[in-house]
Amino acid sequence: MECQGCGRQVQTAFICGDCCSELADLMSGLSIGWRVENDHRAYRSEGWGEFLEDARFGQTRLGESTRRSSELSRPALARLTDDEKDSFKGSPRELQQKAHGTAARWVQETCEIRGITFMPVNSVGHRFIGPLPPGVFRLPEGYSATFQEMVSWLIRHVSSVALNESAGQCLNEFRGLVSEIERCINRPRPKRYCGNCPTLDEDEQRCATPLYAESHDDNQVECWRCHKTFVIDDLIQGSLDNARGWLFSEREVLDIMAQIGRHIPRGTWWSWKDRGVIVNKNEWGAEPRFLLEDVQDAWQERIGNRKTA
Ligand SMILES: [Zn+2]
Ligand SMILES: [Zn+2]
Repeated sequence: MECQGCGRQVQTAFICGDCCSELADLMSGLSIGWRVENDHRAYRSEGWGEFLEDARFGQTRLGESTRRSSELSRPALARLTDDEKDSFKGSPRELQQKAHGTAARWVQETCEIRGITFMPVNSVGHRFIGPLPPGVFRLPEGYSATFQEMVSWLIRHVSSVALNESAGQCLNEFRGLVSEIERCINRPRPKRYCGNCPTLDEDEQRCATPLYAESHDDNQVECWRCHKTFVIDDLIQGSLDNARGWLFSEREVLDIMAQIGRHIPRGTWWSWKDRGVIVNKNEWGAEPRFLLEDVQDAWQERIGNRKTA
């Protein structure tokens, strides 16, 4: 018999051991994230499902997820521009529903074919009598499982899935699902906003065309209207100087910094606040507000530390 995933010879199951591991990996990526190792540490990233959740609530605007993550640990997330929206098929919400449906269908089919029942991992039914072992929870009546729970169950029962004669189809569906989600959240990086064109015409009117650098490595940008070329660092510095003394909300600060290509990871932001590197300057309202120059100083210090480290 041939493996339905890769065509190699198999004896007992419908997909081979490697395809079985691939299926389990795809599912782990969807539900619990995957192992990331870098120079400093090994950890688990968020699953694709959570990135989709971010995308669905529009928290990926300005090209960065609000989740605590780094460029290395995750796909680059980006906001859809208007022309991308037109060519974009499948909203994050639709993909979430599709993922949920796919997981539910394979749970159901595996249960039917293998004669087993679905229970979320580490749970007991609401009628369970007796003390619960540590780490085990009781399901409320009428409980409906989450995507994470179904996928965790499928991972645990992946060898049962492999014994289903439509195992190959299951593998293909999860492959397709993951690549669709990748396409959905792995948008091209947005252009880098460099500020508005500072050119003055004869009437002392500012050109003020918003200037965007095509690439994050560009040093210069040309205004399409007045055809003058500017050094990007000078432009950004100019805009930041203009913003001196103004107070910005946390969201605005992170947005502005990300727009000018200085993405502040969530963890860094929290640690700055913890350590009092940046402080709330809002004396009148409830919402904390910050000075952009404080954030710039903290950023410079962080970059400086990195260079000397
Ligand atoms: Zn195979
Ligand atoms: Zn201009």
